[in-house]
Amino acid sequence: NRMLGSESHSEEFKHEVLLRPTDFTEYVGQKKVVQNIDVMVESAKIRNSAMDHALLSGPPGLGKTSLAMIIAKSIGSELHVISGPAIEKKGDLAAILTNLGPRDVLFIDEIHRMHISVEEILYSAMEDYRLDIVIGQGPSARTMQIQVAPFTLIGATTRSGLLSNPLRDRFMAHLHFDFYNEHELAEIVENNAKKLNIVLEQKALQLIAACARGTPRIANRILRRVRDFALVKGETKISEESVTKSLSLMEIDSYGLDRMDRKILQVIEDYYKGGPVGIETLCATLAEDRTTIEDVYEPYLLKEGFLLRTPRGREISQKSRDHLLKMKGF
Ligand code: ADP
Repeated sequence: NRMLGSESHSEEFKHEVLLRPTDFTEYVGQKKVVQNIDVMVESAKIRNSAMDHALLSGPPGLGKTSLAMIIAKSIGSELHVISGPAIEKKGDLAAILTNLGPRDVLFIDEIHRMHISVEEILYSAMEDYRLDIVIGQGPSARTMQIQVAPFTLIGATTRSGLLSNPLRDRFMAHLHFDFYNEHELAEIVENNAKKLNIVLEQKALQLIAACARGTPRIANRILRRVRDFALVKGETKISEESVTKSLSLMEIDSYGLDRMDRKILQVIEDYYKGGPVGIETLCATLAEDRTTIEDVYEPYLLKEGFLLRTPRGREISQKSRDHLLKMKGF
């Protein structure tokens, strides 16, 4: 995926762990989400019981996992992280649920990609903290009920529209994550530069924030590349020029678009005269998976007005045409 680039999973992971905000004071932006969660956490503490279930939706890298970690820490409970599509059997999820302690937080990433048969186990678990397990088949089948500890389910999804209704309805709060503005990203870059022992010129910091595609994970990634670049150059205070050079090495332009973003726009322009083109046809031309295009690339292109979604398919805007033209000159 784009966030990982050519880096190994474990390197990226170590980096993310180091840079994760550890409490609400370090968690920048997403005011509406944080206000809602804050009330839910406080209420759980007063009731001395588990926090209500919450569904967090939004593009990758915007802070859903980080928020779940902060929630668990604020409640003083343990966080269990699993990926929805990785749970293959009902029994696996049942084992995870029965191992939860009272008020623990279970974070299920990509919850919309969970198998439906596995998902069904969650309904009674979320509602009554109970598992209904069917043992045997045919006339001799019987249902066994197992109690689970009162827990909080935090589901994360890039596409809340793909969740089944019974599952969606069982979440008390539905919270949507927006892209971060430059001001918020600058604050994140400033905090994380300190954690990485990097000193940045003000303009260098602002340039990273402006080119991070509204996404903290991308800001972190640029920051790390910039640090490598400055280290090699022997620069103690990172200049705007070094950031510009790092961004150019990463093929990120002044709008924060990368090679794949531009390729999507260019393909629509060159092959389909600017569109409209159906999503399936577009993905086939790009030889890319539809989910990746829809979940990872499109949201930002749509938000920034490079791409338009019409009933007849995707179209590029005049802003895109101007930008592609400008980029051809480089
Ligand atoms: P998601 O779960 O939505 O994919 P993550 O929580 O893994 O996103 O965020 C990726 C990284 O971005 C984190 O490790 C953290 O460094 C940074 N980050 C995300 N949101 C915030 C935030 N609100 N404040 C500070 N840093 C953030």
